[in-house]
Amino acid sequence: MSNEQRFWHRLSGHLILAGGALILIALGQFQWHDATETELVVSTAVSTQPPVAEVQTEATAVPPTQVPQGVLPVINDNSLAPLPNPRTYHTKLPAHNFQMHEVAEGETPNIIADKYGISADTLLGGNSWLSQESNQLQVGAQLIILPVDGVLHEVRAGETLESIAELYRVSASDIIAYEPNNLEFPFYRLVPESDLLIPGASIGQFFFTAPKSVATNAAGQPQWKVFGTGTYIWPINGRCLTQFYNGFHPAIDISAGEGSPVYASDTGTVTYASFASGTYYDYGNLIVINHGNGFETFYAHLSSIGVFPGQTVTQGELIGFTGNTGRSSGPHIHFEIRDNDFRSNPLSRLGGGYQDCS
Ligand SMILES: [Zn+2]
Repeated sequence: MSNEQRFWHRLSGHLILAGGALILIALGQFQWHDATETELVVSTAVSTQPPVAEVQTEATAVPPTQVPQGVLPVINDNSLAPLPNPRTYHTKLPAHNFQMHEVAEGETPNIIADKYGISADTLLGGNSWLSQESNQLQVGAQLIILPVDGVLHEVRAGETLESIAELYRVSASDIIAYEPNNLEFPFYRLVPESDLLIPGASIGQFFFTAPKSVATNAAGQPQWKVFGTGTYIWPINGRCLTQFYNGFHPAIDISAGEGSPVYASDTGTVTYASFASGTYYDYGNLIVINHGNGFETFYAHLSSIGVFPGQTVTQGELIGFTGNTGRSSGPHIHFEIRDNDFRSNPLSRLGGGYQDCS
């Protein structure tokens, strides 16, 4: 059947169901539950929706499937499901079937992601409760493994396909085309509280927090020997920006030939200076400088590192050379300025004079 034929076929089915329902309501013996049409699929174990039952003619509620706590928020309240109105077109719920992964000792986001052939970002996409700090990944944590790269999005009342597509900067047709989302022609109705998989979307990347200090006092507070000036200079001589700051990329990428000198953006203490593999592979060779005033700067994808942890550096001092290590598609430097762990826009402190090379 074509989509249109299927629609009219269903509509006639609905009218019959609706007619029957109205008679039952009139007799005062009928109470609606969250049930919709009989062809609805049964939710999988990790769905946030209670299982959909066939239309009930008795006043007993259908108990929701027991889903392991802590996996996803479980909606036990049937009143959250849309009220079936006999005049409306009932919508299929998404029917996802996800694998689960229990984090084992020594596993990092990228090791787990590689096992399933997905990106590390998709671990965040399927488990929005997960900390983006890669060191926080707990052994024994149960992760939902999405079958494709993307984000699991819980639909909220008032959202539309278009608003969700815009939120994740993907096309609505990609969301429709993902079959387990069960979005049906012609209305593509969304069910509040149900989970849509948004293929190709991302809610962020794992990041790595460098040790705060190499020396602490009795109270555990860092004892810095030098402090930043509070001003920041460009870390390389180039000003050609290939990627700007945004929520998905809280840094700037500056294009530079392999082996260009990298300078300390401000005075501080080196807290990290090595390949970030085990903790955060994306950065490649990484230098982190703590400026002792709540600020840190990150210099990533380096070809070589000329400083060691604990070393103090002054603003403008040569610390390494640019490269293409880690998740990088060409020689450039990925530069972050963190203000008390918040990754701020470096351009607001570096000033102008740059070109848009994106
Ligand atoms: Zn970058």
